[in-house]
Amino acid sequence: MKLWQQQTLFALNVSKLIQYINSREFSVTFGDAYRAPEMAAIYAKEGKGIINSLHCKRLAIDLNLFDLNGDYFSDQKYYEQFGVYWESLHDNNRWGGNFTKHGGKINDGNHFEMREDLDGYKIALGDFTTGKRDFPL
Ligand SMILES: [Zn+2]
Repeated sequence: MKLWQQQTLFALNVSKLIQYINSREFSVTFGDAYRAPEMAAIYAKEGKGIINSLHCKRLAIDLNLFDLNGDYFSDQKYYEQFGVYWESLHDNNRWGGNFTKHGGKINDGNHFEMREDLDGYKIALGDFTTGKRDFPL
């Protein structure tokens, strides 16, 4: 699969996720979607992400979750049902709530990504045999 094909598949999956979230009486706004490599480098220096973020490949998005009263939820426990749905949409989909660092889970519950699956080319982002990374984005 070429990168552009995967990017369009990712976008389609995001649209399904947003429809699903709305069907559960929540709504979202967009956080980071595309991230310039320069910004990823700044985040990496600040310890808020990694330099090879899938945001830079247009294969990740952060969504801000709200209920119908407009209350914002940041704790990943509210995102978990949507993470389960996200990972059911495609084998390469990963939810940030399942990421680990130093053996413990990290709070990146608003992050949804599709790991790259390009013929003959994969960027070095952790352990693809389990699909679990050891660092946040
Ligand atoms: Zn993210």
